Amino acid sequence: MGEAMSKRLKLQLGGEAAMEERAFPNPFPDYEAAALADADSDSAAAAAAAAAEPPAHRPPAGSLGLPFLAQRKINPTFTRRIQSKIQDLLQQMEEGLKTADPHDCSAYTGWTGIALLYLQLYRVTSDQAYLLRSLDYVKRTLRNLNGRRVTFLCGDAGPLAVGAVVYHKLKSDSEAKECVAKLLQLQRTIVSSDSDLPDELLYGRAGYLYALLYLNTEIGPNTVPQSTLKEVVNAIIESGKNLSKEERKTERCPLLYQWHRKQYVGAAHGMAGIYYVLMQPASNVDQETLTELLKPSIDYVRHKKFRSGNYPSSLSNETDRLVHWCHGAPGVIHMLLQAYKTFKEEKYLKDAMECSDVIWQRGLLRKGYGICHGTAGNGYSFLSLYHLTQDKKYLYRACKVWEVPFTFYPTCWLRRPPAFRHSNSDLGRRKARWKRTAKPPKRVPSGETA
Ligand SMILES: [Zn+2]
Repeated sequence: MGEAMSKRLKLQLGGEAAMEERAFPNPFPDYEAAALADADSDSAAAAAAAAAEPPAHRPPAGSLGLPFLAQRKINPTFTRRIQSKIQDLLQQMEEGLKTADPHDCSAYTGWTGIALLYLQLYRVTSDQAYLLRSLDYVKRTLRNLNGRRVTFLCGDAGPLAVGAVVYHKLKSDSEAKECVAKLLQLQRTIVSSDSDLPDELLYGRAGYLYALLYLNTEIGPNTVPQSTLKEVVNAIIESGKNLSKEERKTERCPLLYQWHRKQYVGAAHGMAGIYYVLMQPASNVDQETLTELLKPSIDYVRHKKFRSGNYPSSLSNETDRLVHWCHGAPGVIHMLLQAYKTFKEEKYLKDAMECSDVIWQRGLLRKGYGICHGTAGNGYSFLSLYHLTQDKKYLYRACKVWEVPFTFYPTCWLRRPPAFRHSNSDLGRRKARWKRTAKPPKRVPSGETA
């Protein structure tokens, strides 16, 4: 028994070491403890006030744990810190862009992503200067469409969809319509039955469907005709049914998908991302397909959950290792939240909350800010859960994730050379390589190692 125990302990310690290599141990108290500390600080402040202590010596309310005040109002000091950091980072980004790859026009790693960032800043601040900046970048991407890929994140659909929205907001309707028309021209290759296009979000049909839904949400519900949406949705459903039949899984998982012959689970290449897009109300999937095909498939993925609450990167992989948007709980959580909204069953919300706990424990990634496999992408899961539940615990977690870079990353990370780096190496290896070669690391294709 002693031997078995030590072996188990060894395994556990090995697992912990591997985890530490990928993520920082979370140094923050969770919401309940922080709220308690905050209450203590408040009562200390009240006691000090009662004793008529000079104001300068009072601990400010909310200074110890919580970044927000009553009624979920974000603490003004916290807001000011965010705003000043945004300005600081924008400046650094613009500096880095001077030497960035001029040909990478994708939303995922290139110029469309920058245009999207400025569009979001415009949305939040209503400052027209941000919209015009977004236009500058989007024009640049529209001159460089390459016809190689079709998705929002990695293909021409990204620049075209973001371009249409920017022009629409600037009331340049003919330019907006031109972008929409070009985007719709891609549809033929998407629905063609002899196309070998995958179905996943990064390079496949779901990534094209996402661009269509984005237009209908941002510009108006009939910007993309319902008939076009239906054809694309049907192509994705048919493809899932066919693979399920081939793999004899029609009972357990009636909509099965693969990418590079691997049945991925996560958001970027896997079923979570495809199901998430199909469940969007704007996709208009009929009730029968939702309950007969999508729901059992989602439950099939749910049953692949590890004991930790995390999810495997693919159906054949049993290693509980990755906690990124592209692989693991941070991507699957969005499918679960959408399933909860669609089917109104508590089990989906319960699993989503478990995902959130895994992300809180193991999701403060060492790789940097990125959305695909960085801390920001993991932070979005807390925001989504907060929007749905209005539970302050998740707002707290999201705020703390924002503090991660400033708590851990050395300044060299913030001041690193050119933008558009999407590497799978972790920060330590990256720094070692910089020291050795003084050249940027090579790009590694996204896959299960991400
Ligand atoms: Zn990734």
